[in-house]
Amino acid sequence: MYKTVWILTLLLSGTLMAKEHKLSIVIHGGAGTILKKNLSGKKEAEIRAKLTQALDAGYKVLENGGESTAAVMAAINVMENSPLFNSGKGAVYNKVGKHELDASIMRGSDLQAGAVAGVKKTKNPINAAFEVLKNSPHVMLSGEGADKFAKQQQLEMVNNSYFDTDYRYQQWQAINDKKEVSLSEDLLKTDSKFGTVGAVAIDINGTIAAGTSTGGMTNKAFGRIGDSPIIGAGTYADDRSCGISATGHGEYFIRYAVAHDICARVLYKKNGLNQAANEVINQELVKAGGDGGIIGLDNKGNVVMTFNTAGMYRGFKTSEKKAQVFIYKTN
Ligand code: ASP
Repeated sequence: MYKTVWILTLLLSGTLMAKEHKLSIVIHGGAGTILKKNLSGKKEAEIRAKLTQALDAGYKVLENGGESTAAVMAAINVMENSPLFNSGKGAVYNKVGKHELDASIMRGSDLQAGAVAGVKKTKNPINAAFEVLKNSPHVMLSGEGADKFAKQQQLEMVNNSYFDTDYRYQQWQAINDKKEVSLSEDLLKTDSKFGTVGAVAIDINGTIAAGTSTGGMTNKAFGRIGDSPIIGAGTYADDRSCGISATGHGEYFIRYAVAHDICARVLYKKNGLNQAANEVINQELVKAGGDGGIIGLDNKGNVVMTFNTAGMYRGFKTSEKKAQVFIYKTN
């Protein structure tokens, strides 16, 4: 009798210990001077639909028991393949009229990370970053070497002109010529500098992953590398604290090691993720003059979306809440 009770107790505690973690995914599609008056109803609807599609793609992976790295890539791939965001197709132009893309991904269970900087031919830079994580002894590859590595890993390669869009071209010309151009849908005023994409997810095992992918900043010097591929600046994940993906003026995010600073505050100061993000984005960065924001989640799956700009394309979905997307301060 006692033996049966004992076995039953053991089985029960085993089941409880193997309790599944709350699933959660949060994404962004860039921060900036995003104002309702500058965004047509049609464009706004398209952006909201694409963000929802990205959330659904990422969440589906989690729901099927997939890893958070795979969920992050699935969500980011949707945005990379859309001309609406400054990553993959639709990436901004650099000073010499070309596209140079940056991306990184990090896994919080073992602090493994991968990044590519300045790739010109890799269709989905986030996938190349993951290949670096998985199949190379390095953390970051750049330029031609990174493209070559992506090709060796059998990733899809494209000509640099694949990333072209009329809209980004006009934006670049306007900035380059320092003259106003009238665009049919004047997004120029809303996100001409920024528009990176990112995702952070926590899977059934409680592993956090964070990833970021970008074309960088419009009219950047060729060879310029922003915060997005830099682990600790644009991307960070540590299961002991949180996962973060950033967007904004990269030079500030690098100097303030934004993604890592937020996770460090959670880990060492025992701050809640909201407080940590708020102090870094709305206090430290604002004092310094750095525009931008972050999305992230802690190891309980609680989501944060903090920015010091007028708006940030963003959204989340958890096992408790259906997909919700936002553009402006409150909606
Ligand atoms: N952080 C990116 C960079 O500086 C730009 C952005 O987030 O839009 O390259």
